Amino acid sequence: MAGIVVRPRARIYHGHDWVYNTEVLKTFGDPAPGEVVSLKDGRDRLLGSAIYNPASQIVARRFSRQRQELDLDFFVRRVRLAIQEREALGAFGLAGRVIWSESDGLPGLIVDRYGEHLVLQTLTAGMDLRKPLIVEALKLVLRPASVFERNDAPVRRAEGLPLVTGDLWGQTPPDLPIELDGVSFRVDLRSGHKTGLYLDQVENYRLVAAHAAGKTVLDCFSNQGAFALHCARAGATRIVAVESNADLVQQIRLNAARNQVEVEAVQANAFDYLSSAVDRSETFDLVILDPPSFTKSRGSVDSAWRGYKEIHRRALQLLSPRGLLATFSCSHHVTREMFREMLVDASVDAKRFVRVLNFLSQPLDHPILPHLPETEYLKGFLVQALPGR
Ligand code: SAH
Repeated sequence: MAGIVVRPRARIYHGHDWVYNTEVLKTFGDPAPGEVVSLKDGRDRLLGSAIYNPASQIVARRFSRQRQELDLDFFVRRVRLAIQEREALGAFGLAGRVIWSESDGLPGLIVDRYGEHLVLQTLTAGMDLRKPLIVEALKLVLRPASVFERNDAPVRRAEGLPLVTGDLWGQTPPDLPIELDGVSFRVDLRSGHKTGLYLDQVENYRLVAAHAAGKTVLDCFSNQGAFALHCARAGATRIVAVESNADLVQQIRLNAARNQVEVEAVQANAFDYLSSAVDRSETFDLVILDPPSFTKSRGSVDSAWRGYKEIHRRALQLLSPRGLLATFSCSHHVTREMFREMLVDASVDAKRFVRVLNFLSQPLDHPILPHLPETEYLKGFLVQALPGR
C-alpha cells in the first residue's frame, strides 16, 4: 500500500486526524488522488489509514487507526454506527444529520435526512470517488426513497472537485413538506440553503421559542423564518422577520400562512433595519441574530468582528428591559471566546450589559470532537439584558 511518513511533532501525534502538506516527510508508492494510504511515523510504525489528496493543503485525512480499505462493508458499518449512536442519544428524528464527516469517521462525507429522502455531500476526493459505494451503503441501511447529491459547496474546489448537483438514486421531490416541532415547512433539497433546512439550528429553535410567549420578537437573517415561526407557534405577540433575499422573504410569508400565524416579513439589509429601528426608538423583548458566516478564513476575522459588533450593538440597544438576545456565529474561525469578547465590546458601546442564560451550540447529530476542532463551527449565546445599576 502507498503511504506517507509524517514528520515528528505533526498534529496527528496530538490526536488530530489530518496531515497537512507541510507535515509530510516523504510519500511512498506514488498514491493517486483519493486513494487510501497508510500513515507511518519515522520508525515505520502505522498511525492509521487515510484518504489522500495532493491537490489539497490537507493531503491526508485519517479514517481508521488500523489498516482499512474503503469498501462497501466499511461504509455499511460506519453508517450503521452513526445511526445507532444517534438513536441511543434520542437524536435520530424525522429530519437531521445522519453523517457529520470526521465526527462520524467519514472525512468529507455529509448525509442529511429529510424523512425518506437523503441529501449527500462528498467534500473530499476520497469520498467523492466512492459515491456509488456510499449510495449502496445508504440504500442497504436506510432504504431511502431518494438520494440527492448537493455537491455545490465551494469547499470542493480546495480538493480540485467540480461543483455538481443531481439525483443519485430515485427522484427527489421539488417541494418536500416537512414538520419540525409542529411547524410546517416546504423544503427544496435541490437548491435550498445548506441541504434544505438549517438542521444545525433545530435544537436552538426549541430553546429560543421556549422564551417567546407573550413577547415581541425580531428575527434577523431569518432565511425562511424558522426562528420566527417557532416563536409565533410558542405564542409571541408580534414577530418581525428580516431577510435580504426577496425569494426567501416570499417563502417566510408562505410559511406564515401555511402555519396560520402572523409574521411581518421585511426585505431589508439587517444592518440597516437594526439601525433604523434604533432611530425609531423601537424595542423588542427577544432579538435573534443568526447571520451568515462573515468570515470563511482566519484572515478576514477583523472585518467580521466589525460586522458582528455593529449588529450586536444595535440589537442590545433595541432590547426592552430584561429583553433577551439569542445570537449565533457559524464561522469556525470565530471562537466562542472571540464571540464573547465581541459581545462585551458591543455592550460597552451600547451601555447595555447582559447575563448568559444558555451557551448555544450544534445539536447532538452534528457531534464535535475536541481533538478535531474543525468539527465545531456553530456557537451562540442566549443572554438577558441586565437592569441598569
Ligand atoms: N436563522 C436561519 C438561518 C439564517 S442563514 C434559520 O435558522 O433557518 C443567514 C440568512 O441571512 C440567509 O438567509 C441570507 O440570505 C440572509 N442574509 C445575508 N446577509 C444579510 C443581510 N445583510 N441582511 C439580511 N439578511 C441577510
